[in-house]
Amino acid sequence: MSIFLEDEQATIAFGQLLAKYCPAGLNIYLYGDLGAGKTTLVRGFIQSFLPNAKVKSPTYTLVEDYELASSKNNPNALNHVYHFDLYRLGDPEELEYLGGRDYFSADAVCLIEWPQRGEGWLSEPDVELTLSYQPDGRLVELNAHTQKGQDLVKKLSSTP
Ligand code: ADP
Ligand code: MG
Repeated sequence: MSIFLEDEQATIAFGQLLAKYCPAGLNIYLYGDLGAGKTTLVRGFIQSFLPNAKVKSPTYTLVEDYELASSKNNPNALNHVYHFDLYRLGDPEELEYLGGRDYFSADAVCLIEWPQRGEGWLSEPDVELTLSYQPDGRLVELNAHTQKGQDLVKKLSSTP
């Protein structure tokens, strides 16, 4: 599916919509040139749970952990959003040193900018999302690679 986003607010709103339907355990790769709107979309996603969170690209740490109110009686609840930006990653093996965390777990969503740089280390994506420049806005395209990803895309495309 693809959707035209006319301005920054539309990109944020699309991030919020994604958050609304995104189940825990999902892994999303975000593609697009610098300035295409990847971090803006992630900001909308995260601020729909944490309105006051400052969301910028985790340039030096490579990954930022946003912890959501945990629900211990529901192991499938979304407890973490991990925002990766691998633009400055030299070698995927550097990701081994990120702390041995289980980022790709059932209670987390991973949103990964520049996944190309982490090839071989990252989990396979459920959804690949591409933002591209248009003369008067951006285009966002989604491709699902798993059943969970397909379910999400279906929900998004049936939302007016
Ligand atoms: P990236 O993370 O892909 O490098 P950013 O989200 O940091 O990009 O920056 C995107 C820039 O484009 C911001 O200045 C933002 O205001 C702007 N922007 C985001 N979405 C749109 C849109 N749909 N139309 C026009 N400008 C947008
Ligand atoms: Mg960015």
